[in-house]
Amino acid sequence: MAAKLIKGTDIREQILEEITAEVKQIKEKHGVVPGLVTILVGENPASISYVTLKIQTAHRVGFKEIQDSQSVDITEEQLLALIDKYNKDDSINGILVQLPLPKHIDEKKVLNAIDPDKDVDGFHPVNVGRLMIGGKEVKFPPCTPAGIQEMIVRAGVETSGAEVVVVGRSNIVGKPIANMMLQKGKGANSTVTIVHTGTKDLASHCQRADILIVAAGVPGLVKPEWIKPGACVIDVGVNRVGEKISEKTGKPIAILRGDVDFDAAKEIAGSITPVPGGVGPMTITMLMLNTLKSLKFKLGIA
Ligand code: NAP
Repeated sequence: MAAKLIKGTDIREQILEEITAEVKQIKEKHGVVPGLVTILVGENPASISYVTLKIQTAHRVGFKEIQDSQSVDITEEQLLALIDKYNKDDSINGILVQLPLPKHIDEKKVLNAIDPDKDVDGFHPVNVGRLMIGGKEVKFPPCTPAGIQEMIVRAGVETSGAEVVVVGRSNIVGKPIANMMLQKGKGANSTVTIVHTGTKDLASHCQRADILIVAAGVPGLVKPEWIKPGACVIDVGVNRVGEKISEKTGKPIAILRGDVDFDAAKEIAGSITPVPGGVGPMTITMLMLNTLKSLKFKLGIA
């Protein structure tokens, strides 16, 4: 039986429409819209394309968007002063510093300078702590894990009491999604196991999973025989395994593969995310949702 496909591209459209409608309502009632600033240092082509996508999405949902592009020569002090300016700017609800930063700037120092109440990426230690406490403490769950949880919920997968196995323990995906799934409440209340390179028998853990979340960055790591029949499989991995010529543009584009052997896995799983078009499109969507939430917290309507 072929698994149900959980398409991030479709869920993104639903959520962006919901955000657009809510922004319109807030504007009518309170006369304000969410404000997002994206700070880009230098001209790294990949960073430019990520920032462009974020800006386009922010415009689409009706946000006020400021693109603040800085020269690669900006000093750490000047960048910290810029962040301080946006921390104090009442019209800005979310501050995003596009990484990586040039080597002469301490990334950690810069990210930690963002007001935790405007840290819509959810990486500030205060927000990491809030996520760990759970419940009403949580303000901004980090965007990729938040996207994963949203996909599981919107796919109608039961999480309460489910065995969740997370492959990978990074600070941006593995640890936060594991933490989110074990909290009490909707879309969570699961029994969670995290596995990593120190785990003795990866296969046996994965075979227990009702929900298998894979974020290892190793193409095809998860074999079909590791998947419990009917399980929900969320493949976070995005691995460049080659290049092909795009039919649309005639230009070379990357061939992307996930961490799961998709073709074989889809015959066993109950539901599965594709790569590309699965978790990927959810990250920027959740960034928009966090920025909207930030304004709602400020207005006392969250
Ligand atoms: P990461 O920081 O490299 O962490 C990878 C984790 O996987 C580590 O904890 C590592 O274990 C574990 N791992 C690696 N190989 C393993 C193996 N053979 N067996 C068991 N565990 C293994 O990566 P990340 O930033 O979390 O990203 C993971 C993947 O998700 C990447 O492909 C990345 O491109 C993708 N990603 C996608 C999105 C998106 O779609 N929006 C966002 C973020 C990441 P150790 O800790 O023991 O080394």
